Amino acid sequence: MKGWLHLACIALMCLLPAATRAAPAVTASQDRRIAITFDDLPWASLDPNTPLPAQGTVPPRIAAESVRLLQAIEGTGTPAIGFVNSARLLVGGQPQADRTAMLDAWLDAGLELGNHTDTHADLHIVGIQAYEDDILACDRVLRPLLAKRGREPQWFRHPYLRTGRTPEDKAAMGAFLAAHGYRIAPVTVTSSDWIWAAAYAKALDRGDAATQAKLRAQYVPYLLRRVNYFEHRSIRLLGYALPQVMLLHANALNADTYPDFVAGLRARGYRFVDLDEAMRDPAYRRADKFTGALGTSWIHRWAIAAGRSWKFYGGEPTSPKWVTDLAGVPPE
Ligand SMILES: [Zn+2]
Repeated sequence: MKGWLHLACIALMCLLPAATRAAPAVTASQDRRIAITFDDLPWASLDPNTPLPAQGTVPPRIAAESVRLLQAIEGTGTPAIGFVNSARLLVGGQPQADRTAMLDAWLDAGLELGNHTDTHADLHIVGIQAYEDDILACDRVLRPLLAKRGREPQWFRHPYLRTGRTPEDKAAMGAFLAAHGYRIAPVTVTSSDWIWAAAYAKALDRGDAATQAKLRAQYVPYLLRRVNYFEHRSIRLLGYALPQVMLLHANALNADTYPDFVAGLRARGYRFVDLDEAMRDPAYRRADKFTGALGTSWIHRWAIAAGRSWKFYGGEPTSPKWVTDLAGVPPE
């Protein structure tokens, strides 16, 4: 009996990869789901050094952009979670009411908030002890904010998606986060939205409406190409389109394009779910042994753990050179 089982297992192992390889085509029957996450709340360009306006501590342009993003999220009826850097609330070392109110507005809109460290710390640079302190500093701000609504923080997102330089560091961080009631929020759809946003911010500064419009028009198809790429990689690795988790940043470009992006995803058959639902998919229990510095997708991390060759990762859509030039960063 044991020998028969063994043979059956070998036969299955031979058959399964062939079956998954033979069916990479995207079909209408795929249940396409996606959870949207926004990093660097209350706003990516807001930090303790942001020049102060005449009144308050939030420049009016940022306040208006934040309202536009929330209206866009609410208007599209999509669940979303925002990951907070609590140091962005500070001026002169003190949390500012008008900045904290931006987070309250997220909660008032029925959206979730998670921990993204106090100062956007890089685990690979500061090391475990300082990183844990940074997580706890954010927790001290986030927890009372959520407690007012009878909720508590449960999600943690690593800045730069750097999750540890060694398996030991990763295990230590995993244990620390679990002990403090946090689950790691992975990302399967990455993008260089921050590069496009830097270009857009320059066009806003100059009052260059034509370039703003051009960026908006090309950015949404770029994001959709990124989703499409990771959808196909998911089918290639897992045999199905997993519920994706997408990382965007809290910035003006996303505020001004989110409804078009959502419409584009819906046209492709996507429906929007929260992070918890996405992560119920068994793929999220796969091994992630990645210890590199590249803030890469969890699909790629699983593929590395599964020993996929370099061919698996090719074809990732990049940002055009005119955008990287305008943003002032090297070409992708
Ligand atoms: Zn971040």
